[in-house]
Amino acid sequence: MKRTISVLGSSGSIGRQTLKVASACGYQVAAVTVNRSVEQAEAQARQFKPKLAVAVDEKAAADLRVRLADTGVKVVSGLEGLLEAASLAEADTVVTAIVGVAGLRPTLAAIDCGKRIALANKETLVCAGELVMARAEEKGAEIIPVDSEHSAIFQCLQGCSRKAVRRLIITASGGPFYGKSRKELSLVTKEQALRHPNWAMGAKITVDSATLMNKGLEFIEAMRLYAIPPERIQIVVHRESIVHSLVEFEDGAVLAQLGSADMCLPIQYALTWPERTPGPAKPLDLLSCPPLTFQKPDSDTFRCLGLALECAKRGGTSTAILNGANEAAVALFLEDKISFLDISRLVETALNRVPVLDAPELDDIFEADRAAREAVYQCVR
Ligand code: MG
Repeated sequence: MKRTISVLGSSGSIGRQTLKVASACGYQVAAVTVNRSVEQAEAQARQFKPKLAVAVDEKAAADLRVRLADTGVKVVSGLEGLLEAASLAEADTVVTAIVGVAGLRPTLAAIDCGKRIALANKETLVCAGELVMARAEEKGAEIIPVDSEHSAIFQCLQGCSRKAVRRLIITASGGPFYGKSRKELSLVTKEQALRHPNWAMGAKITVDSATLMNKGLEFIEAMRLYAIPPERIQIVVHRESIVHSLVEFEDGAVLAQLGSADMCLPIQYALTWPERTPGPAKPLDLLSCPPLTFQKPDSDTFRCLGLALECAKRGGTSTAILNGANEAAVALFLEDKISFLDISRLVETALNRVPVLDAPELDDIFEADRAAREAVYQCVR
């Protein structure tokens, strides 16, 4: 099947790799969206000739409109622009590669139109997973994970009864600071945090990988995607990033998906599923792989992981508070306003200050997100 895709967040790492896959596989692109990266949006619009190009920022959209005046591509801005891109009639699939809780409303809009969601925005499921999954079920929208770990699990589950699953095993690279002590972590710099050993990714997720918050968010994402309780998910550190995750079945069989550390494969699988087609992903050469190793993660030293696991058990709005506080803290860290260890300290403060609601509605989730950010800002003012 030839897909027509809307790419939300097309200037980010996943967005650009999605367009690489689209180009290699001959998919149509119906919409591209950026925040402010007008040069990239212009180049993408000229290459893929989408119906719609969105710059969330108003000024950027005005600039982009002038740049694309000769092309016939419609240019819009703001949240309404994102929602329009998410619900465009021409697209059968929406790739949600926006970073953060900002992806939640556009994801819901795409679900409401019954689109296939190639989900690359884990914060959506972390904050509102139960609501999102229920809405997808109701609307008949397929949610196919792009996150490499969740794609690996999804691939291992093909042809198997979900009832036969005993455990999910999520692998973690351990990030650039694996093995370091709290004392050593107190001295690390932004530049070091942004240097991931195995994956080239955007700044926010790279910092999340360094704090191990990324693995905590992925743990919660897996709970929601696969409707599985936390005690049946295990995280193992696998420094080589070759085994992307595993599923253990009732009979004791463990299936794993292996591959090179190349996001093109999980992106493409989310588009081609249930088919597989040739594509641009780098093949895996087992004979040139290092020995595969597995260790226990250290959620005491990497406090963000410990906090996320506590929220996974607590549920309600705790995961939205965790995520909102983390987004605010990581942004402050990237602006050189706080230290690396301040990230977990501020997230913990927000979790202590903001009350948790059970069985939240969408408004409760946005309020939890707002209150968590506010709690973080209060600590650094
Ligand atoms: Mg991942």
